Amino acid sequence: MKFDNSEVRLTYRSELVEELRAVGSKTVGELELLLPNSLGFCWGVDRALAMVEAARREHGDRPMWLISSIIHNPRVNADLREQGIGFLRGRHAIKGAWEQLNPNDVVIVPAFSATVEDMTYLRQRGVTVVDTTCPWVIKPHKRTLKYLKEGFTTIIHGTVGHEETAATCSLIESEGGHYVVVYSIEEAEVLAGYLEGVVDANYLRDNLREGSFSPGISADRDLIRLGVINQTTMLASESRAIGDRLKNALEKRDGAAKLEDNFRDFDTICRATQDNQDAAAAVAALKPDVYLVVGGYDSSNTKNLARVGRRLGVPAYHIEGPHCVGEQLEHRHRESGEILVETAWLPAKRPLKVAFTAGASTPDALLGEVIDSLVDYVGKIPTKAE
Ligand code: SF4
Repeated sequence: MKFDNSEVRLTYRSELVEELRAVGSKTVGELELLLPNSLGFCWGVDRALAMVEAARREHGDRPMWLISSIIHNPRVNADLREQGIGFLRGRHAIKGAWEQLNPNDVVIVPAFSATVEDMTYLRQRGVTVVDTTCPWVIKPHKRTLKYLKEGFTTIIHGTVGHEETAATCSLIESEGGHYVVVYSIEEAEVLAGYLEGVVDANYLRDNLREGSFSPGISADRDLIRLGVINQTTMLASESRAIGDRLKNALEKRDGAAKLEDNFRDFDTICRATQDNQDAAAAVAALKPDVYLVVGGYDSSNTKNLARVGRRLGVPAYHIEGPHCVGEQLEHRHRESGEILVETAWLPAKRPLKVAFTAGASTPDALLGEVIDSLVDYVGKIPTKAE
């Protein structure tokens, strides 16, 4: 079924972003503004929001709910709340609503999917489910089921607790399989150390995050045949490095002849994530003085866009919106996840080259406001009327 996203696109449109997207860069006063050729709303987000619009038209008179959020962007979620869509979990949850769901309710499953337990519960309550799960998110689901059938434990390059990875983990658990989640190449190194016999199972357990292991997993029994997948929005270059490192560890442990039997690797990074990261890297190569990466602080693909910039030696900051930009800069630290406030963050040199990009769940309008904010702060841009 095709969904018309034109209404959503119009709601979140920014003329400034459209212009910059078309030309790539623009000099305004002493600022050179740069924009990658791929950024912002992805196909899956467009589709999810269009499905919500369609559901509102179809079931407008019935109570409508989101499990937690439709996508990881506070602005978009706030807009949906204003339209009367309630939240069942999280900071804006309506107390008791989850327990009281009934067949008159409509529940929207987000683009990043839901756990098997939640889907079962929704069916039991008899609600109407509007499932906006992105088809790209289904890809790791299908691959992990294949691994399971072939007797492999799944290694997920992902974030423990992220809804997409939680859904994948619950699927594996529900089918009686096992998984290990590794967040980074450093965590993969710990797992590789165990596979190579350099560290023991206790060290492995103590040095990965809580929730990284499937319940009941035995390192001796379940880390023999491994299949790697990725949460769709991870840093693609890191996913490849993790796959290679684990392959290398198994080769050391079992010998090259056994690799075919004991190792699988399948790239499940989504196209939009890959395109946005490649485009962000191309702009980072132009060595901007500052790179502002706009998106919800809980947005995985936005976090990784900021890491792309940093890895290429560019001062990249993950910010949530226009309120973050001014004399002080509010941003999320790329590794610790802390929200920090920096002073004297903008280099004094002029002209100043500033690049911008935005996560797959960031509306153009929000990015446009960030650019306007910076322009206002620097004070060198004529107003629209001029
Ligand atoms: S970022 Fe990728 S997986 Fe996520 S909604 Fe967009 S297209 Fe789908």
